[in-house]
Amino acid sequence: MRTEFSPWQQRAYEQAVVALEAGRLGHGLLICGPKGLGKRAVAEHLAQYVLCTARVGHQPCGKCRGCLLYLSRSQRENLELRPDKSLAHPHGHPTHPDVIFLGHAWRMSPSPARQLTQIVVDQVRVLSERLAKTPQYGEALVTIIDPAEAMNESASNALLKTLEEPVPGRYLWLISAQPASLSATIRSRCQKLEFKLPPMDEALAWLVSSGHSSKDAEEALGAARGHPGLADEWLRDGGMALRKSVASDLEKLERGDIGVIETAQRWASDEHADLRLSHAADLVLAQAGTAGLTDPARLHKLATWFDAANRTRDLLGTTVRGDLAIVDLLLAWRGVDRTRAAKGDRA
Ligand SMILES: [Zn+2]
Repeated sequence: MRTEFSPWQQRAYEQAVVALEAGRLGHGLLICGPKGLGKRAVAEHLAQYVLCTARVGHQPCGKCRGCLLYLSRSQRENLELRPDKSLAHPHGHPTHPDVIFLGHAWRMSPSPARQLTQIVVDQVRVLSERLAKTPQYGEALVTIIDPAEAMNESASNALLKTLEEPVPGRYLWLISAQPASLSATIRSRCQKLEFKLPPMDEALAWLVSSGHSSKDAEEALGAARGHPGLADEWLRDGGMALRKSVASDLEKLERGDIGVIETAQRWASDEHADLRLSHAADLVLAQAGTAGLTDPARLHKLATWFDAANRTRDLLGTTVRGDLAIVDLLLAWRGVDRTRAAKGDRA
């Protein structure tokens, strides 16, 4: 079976398979590195490899009963905790009984929103019970927790117990883009499989082989600070076009060619408000880099605005009206205050 891994995914996969074959792959594995580099895909393929009963080289065969069962599950399917505390697949699809994916808890009703962002202790308990049982098909049982940093404190404590009692053939993989936010004890109990940003030329070659022109690839990779996954995403879903329109808006606002309020309303009008602010902050940071020492006043303005843009991004997740928060931000960009705006400046 062929995989279409990027070179950095392939390297991570090989590293894990070689360790596994040499009997060096421990019970706990922390798969970490920046978001968008394909950690989950590697973990999933690795799980199939571990559960395959007729491996071919370093690949799962794709034909044995284990592989067929594994592949029959729906993509990215997490085993979820139901309000009655049973675990179930959200769509009722059959799956391989010896693999468990654990993600965010289901909304329990009446639901505080925060539960959506957490992995809770009951989920971990069920997972641990399952890990203690005998595998149904082969000799291995794999559990994947993604994103591991979503575990709350009690979930994390419960997991620690499981990590401390390793059983041969049982694998507990934690996927995290923010490994530093996991408890130090958990990190110390896990081997690490680390994803890193690839060298620039490799990232560029991969983007071009994914169908982007080298000009677009280079531009997007620069904007994404060398992150090929992000560059690819921006090129595919319009993120680069959004970035260019934000850059143009900022220029026009500074010149007074467009109004603050109409622009703020446009920026806040859809689900891309956060990405617009993120691009805006990033573009301004790049400008600050060029302003450098030649124009300290401008550098100060840019740096202050960069912080304000990030604070506004935080506000978007709250009950504050997004368009109003963005109006304030854009007024600051134009260098006018609300009083002047109220006196008839085009705002
Ligand atoms: Zn197989």
